[in-house]
Amino acid sequence: MNRRRFLAGAASLALATTGGQAVARRTLWNPCRAALPPAIADHDLIHSAWEGLDPAQVWDCHAHLAGLGEGGSGITINPRMLSPLHPAEYFQRLFYLNAGCAHEAPGEVDQSYVERLHNLADGMRTGFKLVLFAFERTHDSTGRPRPDLTAFHVPDDYARNLARAHPAFFEWACSIHPWREDGVEALEAAVRDGARAVKWLPPAMGIDPASPQCDRFYAALARLDLPLITHAGEEKAVQGAGRPEWGNPLRLRRALDHGVRVVVAHCASLGQDLDEDRGRAARKVSSFSLFSRLMTEGRHEGRLFGDISAITLRNREISTLRTLIQREDWHPRLLFGTDYPLPGVLPLISPRQLVREGLLAPTAAPVLETLREHNPLLFDFVLKRHLRTGPARFADRVFETRPFFERTPA
Ligand SMILES: [Zn+2]
Repeated sequence: MNRRRFLAGAASLALATTGGQAVARRTLWNPCRAALPPAIADHDLIHSAWEGLDPAQVWDCHAHLAGLGEGGSGITINPRMLSPLHPAEYFQRLFYLNAGCAHEAPGEVDQSYVERLHNLADGMRTGFKLVLFAFERTHDSTGRPRPDLTAFHVPDDYARNLARAHPAFFEWACSIHPWREDGVEALEAAVRDGARAVKWLPPAMGIDPASPQCDRFYAALARLDLPLITHAGEEKAVQGAGRPEWGNPLRLRRALDHGVRVVVAHCASLGQDLDEDRGRAARKVSSFSLFSRLMTEGRHEGRLFGDISAITLRNREISTLRTLIQREDWHPRLLFGTDYPLPGVLPLISPRQLVREGLLAPTAAPVLETLREHNPLLFDFVLKRHLRTGPARFADRVFETRPFFERTPA
């Protein structure tokens, strides 16, 4: 089941079967508690998760900003996502905001989303930071913005200003459509302003990563040594241009061949894409298998990376998660990310299912479930630190992502 239908279905199912919003809230909705209870805070599961790591090197490289445009954030949401007449989008929006625990602050949703994020980051160890994503509008083939096709927009300025205001907790990634006439200029300005990466969601934003129209932008990325964090595989959380084929991992070869460091979000762990390498015989295969093919192509070494955000969601194949843990040769190319606020959406990740699959010790599940109610960031981190398949686990360096982003241009 895709994530959006899953969310809408889960919400309406809970309301129908329990007959009351209060019950639905308790079982499905993140209760947004703040401080950890002492028994959890001092739990060995949490202490051991930090063992072997320098917290100052641990950056969550995949965190989303959300809001309603209140308090001057500049965020815009497509009215379609605000209407109860479009239930899927409506529930999706509620879940997203609830996961960030901003739902009970009328008039201050954007501000309270950030405050919550700040508190959660504060609940990690000193030095830990989040890379906050701006989110570009959908553009057409001539590089002009299409507000009518844009699900939501988080301006670069907003992400930059938050990183400036809270440098102990936040870094930021810009989001710039490569076909914008001022694309390269905007990129150069973002780098001057400390952007650590550029973030794309090609199917929604209307970007074909294999288009020669991207070349100027790729040349600039390579020159500036700014990584491109881009979604590949199926995307269900955000609608927009409606070009799913532009999420095909194989289309990223063009960026790689330009010398761009490319981070494939979620290691393309969801959905299917056409195996375009087979020409006329092309058929659909898992997006992850295409990502895997790119990872084994030697020429992309040092350029192609994947982030491990969202890989534990229930809509992923468990075999994909197993492969990522077992492929220790890939670990130097994997980067820790949470895809916040998703880890705060209660039904999306099931520690008990991971126990059943033998990936997690049974004693860890109840601790993680309590932890998630208080701090979804810490939950995601601790969970991924403790995933095992046989003797294999994610290497420490997967979590120490800071050096990847701090590399200065030659
Ligand atoms: Zn994401």
